[in-house]
Formats: sequence, C-alpha cells, structure tokens
Amino acid sequence: MARLVRATYTSTVPRRVARTSRAMTIGGGCRPDAVIFGRRQSGPSAAIVGGGPAGLMAAEVLAEGGVAVRVYDHMPSLGRKLLMAGRGGLNLTHSEPLELFLDRFGGARAWLEPAIRAFPPEMLIEWCHGLGQKTFVGSSGRVFPRAMKASPLLRAWLTRLNALGVRFHPRHRWTGWTADGAMSFATPDGDVVIQPSVAILAPGGASWPRLGSDGVWAAYLSQGVSPFRPSNCGFVVEWSAHLRERFAGCPLKRIALSFGGRTVRGEATITETGLEGGAVYALSAGIRDAIEAAGPVTVSLDLRPDLSLAALSARLNVARRGQSLSGFLRKQGGLAPEAIALVQEALHGGMGSNDLPGLIKSLPLVFRAPRPIGRAISSAGGLRAEVLDARFMLLDRPGVFAAGEMLDWEAPTGGYLLQACFSTGAAAARGALAWLAEAGRTGSVGDR
Ligand SMILES: Cc1cc2nc3c(=O)[nH]c(=O)nc-3n(C[C@H](O)[C@H](O)[C@H](O)COP(=O)(O)OP(=O)(O)OC[C@H]3O[C@@H](n4cnc5c(N)ncnc54)[C@H](O)[C@@H]3O)c2cc1C
Repeated sequence: MARLVRATYTSTVPRRVARTSRAMTIGGGCRPDAVIFGRRQSGPSAAIVGGGPAGLMAAEVLAEGGVAVRVYDHMPSLGRKLLMAGRGGLNLTHSEPLELFLDRFGGARAWLEPAIRAFPPEMLIEWCHGLGQKTFVGSSGRVFPRAMKASPLLRAWLTRLNALGVRFHPRHRWTGWTADGAMSFATPDGDVVIQPSVAILAPGGASWPRLGSDGVWAAYLSQGVSPFRPSNCGFVVEWSAHLRERFAGCPLKRIALSFGGRTVRGEATITETGLEGGAVYALSAGIRDAIEAAGPVTVSLDLRPDLSLAALSARLNVARRGQSLSGFLRKQGGLAPEAIALVQEALHGGMGSNDLPGLIKSLPLVFRAPRPIGRAISSAGGLRAEVLDARFMLLDRPGVFAAGEMLDWEAPTGGYLLQACFSTGAAAARGALAWLAEAGRTGSVGDR
C-alpha cells in the first residue's frame, strides 16, 4: 500500500513558467490543482530520479527556472560515482576544439550535439569556477579541478541546490509507474507514490552498480532500451600463473596498443585477469564489438613506441656476452621488468624467438572477453534516441525527460562522459521548462 509522504515542500515561486489554474501531470493527464498535506500547492514541481551529475544539473536548471524540485536517489548519499571519478583527478571535460570534441561521440554526435553546444566545455568550466573550484588544463588537454577531486565541488553544488530550495530524498528507489502514470518509490518506510508536474530520469548507466547506477530502471521503460554493455573497460587475457602472481598490478608505461587500424599511446596495467588502463579503454569499444561479433581478438602491444623498429634492432644487434635475456632486454632494450616478463611469456608461448625486436614492437596479446560491466568505467546501451524527442522527452510519456549515462551513447575517457552528462542534464531540464511553459501548462505537486 503506497504511503502519503508528509514532507514539507518549500516550493519556490515560479519565475519563468506561466501559470494557469490547471495542472498537467506527467503522463499527460490533466487534473485539478492538487491539494497536498492539507494545503494548496501552487506552481510546477519536478521529480528527479538520480543524484549524479546529470540529475543534479537538471535540478539546478529547473530550480533556477522557478520549479520546485525534489531529487530522489536510492543510495544513502548523492553523487557517489562522481566522487569515485574524483579519485582519478576528476577529468571534467576536454579543451580540444569543439568539432573534434563532438566527434568523440561517434554515431551519437548528431543526437547530443545541440545539448553540448548549448552547455559546452567552456560553460562547464565557468560553472565550476562559480562553485569556487578553479580548473586547469593538463598536458593532454584534459580539464581537471585544481583540487583534483570531486568532494569540494559536490559539497559546494549541494549547498547551492539547497539554497535554491531543492529537496533531497535519499534511500528512495524509483520502482516504475502506477497504472495512472504516477511514479512509485520504495523507501525504508514503505512505498511512496508521487505525481509531479515533470520528471527527469537520470539514474545513470550500469557500470559500478555499488555506486548506485545498477541499470534496474531499464525494466520500467518497456521499450527503447538497448542492452547495456561495458564501455571503457579492461579485457581478459590468459596470463601464465607466473606472470599473474609476479606482475598483477604492475603498470606498463609509455606503451602503444594497436587494434583495427588504430594505435593509441598511453599506459596500461597488468591485472590478475588481463589488461586495464587508459590505452586499453581508448580502444575498448572496437575491441568489444569485434569480440561480440567473432570471438577473441589479437591486439598488438608496442613496448617501445618511442623507438623505431630499425633503431631497436640496431640496439639489440649486439652480442649478449653471457648476459641473461632479462639483463640484455633491460640494458639494450631499455625494458622495464613487467615488459620483459611479457616478452618472455610470448617467447615461452613459441612466439618471436627469431625476431626479438619485432616481438617487442608488436607483441600479440589475445583479448578473450571484456571485463564485466560492473568494473567498467562506463556503459554503452540504454535509452535510445528514437524514443525521445529533440528535448529528451519520452515520446510515450509526456512530461518525463531523460539525461546522462542512461542514454544510449558512449564516448572514450577524457572528460567526454561527464561533459555529456552535465550537458544532457541541463538540456532535459530546459526541455522540461519549455514543456511546462508551452500551452500554459503549470503543475501542482501531485504527491498523494
Ligand atoms: C571509476 C570511475 C572513474 C570515472 N572517471 C571519470 C572521469 O574522470 N571523467 C569523466 O568524464 N567520467 C568519468 N567517469 C564516468 C562518470 O562518472 C559517469 O559517466 C557519470 O557519473 C554518469 O552520470 P549520471 O548522472 O548519468 O549517472 P550517475 O553518476 O551514475 O548517477 C546516477 C544516480 O542515480 C541513482 N539511481 C540509479 N537507479 C535509481 C533508482 N531506480 N532510483 C533512484 N535512484 C537511482 C544512483 O544511485 C546514482 O546516484 C568515471 C566512472 C567511474 C566508475
């Protein structure tokens, strides 16, 4: 039995949204102004599912637009994935030219472009500065807060949202819709049903479910959801017991990986189960797709990308004079112990004994499968463009908008993920404001 929530609701007076005497509820049904908790609530209201970057950005835009906003999240606290991203320095966005930036979204570029152009990287940086968090551009062009973590940003943001009258409801799991289109939530105190004027769904994708985004929401949107797949993920490589035991956790610095005609320089980390890290993530979408299509693939690892094959061959074309292979590769090849271990593993597997330089420059690694989605940086799949209109409103649920990683796009690491979440959060909220204002729609909070 659903419970009536007896919470106070400090609605800010709508400033930009036109008023009428009738309320338009999500799902499109018109009903008289709602009377809640014994008092008449005027003005539109918004329920936001998910207190991550997309949901909180939507909350800010809606609250500034004069809408009374409540943010619901099933976790005990908000922004957990943002905080986790902060552990890696919080790469907020990227400073490269916008055309190049937009290309990073591949086939989803056309869909996301209006949202990103309306809230582009420089606006995100300004917004960050407005929250007292100065930023800097790293040598790779990536943009980070100077604090190199998310907690000061999140703290300042929640304070701003509080001041705007946004109410937060942790431990509220959105569980779908009632027969008449209201939204239901499971809480520790029982089920709650609400009927706000508009809703923004921003429950994230399906990676790192322990941080909150578990993808369970897909069950409540019966159509238009592509299956989730790991994105920016590591891959399973079958190491020998020796390599696993001795070198799991060791970084491979200044390497290059090649697959499908693309070469990426960067770093990777040997793990118990395979290979992770920036260079792997950068190629991961293509590798994942190829594995899905035809099984394991071979990726080429260059352990000395800064040396040409000829230069490396010249260095190695000297007598070993009793040196062990390890010592020789370390001294002449300039390889680190973990790189030497990979070469030796390949030699033991019968590869490249006649062509050591060739092996070092192009060491074949068989990637068997992506690591599970629960360990991926992000997910592909989610709500498809075709079930939304240009302002991110669900075509079959007027008044319900979607934003963030729940949408079916993917992008590499480099700040593109967060930027798209912030931008689509803002775009969905602007869409909701426009929808409310259109045809004089004004909502009353529909908690019941
Ligand atoms: C380890 C790691 C590092 C990362 N580093 C970076 C980085 O440096 N740069 C970058 O651009 N991106 C990074 N990302 C990705 C980035 O953090 C995400 O893309 C982004 O947080 C997604 O934002 P979102 O608001 O769509 O979803 P989320 O941040 O996942 O937030 C969704 C929220 O919805 C809540 N929720 C889910 N289901 C429900 C429900 N049914 N009811 C109520 N609440 C629900 C969740 O609890 C969660 O709080 C990183 C990700 C990981 C895992």
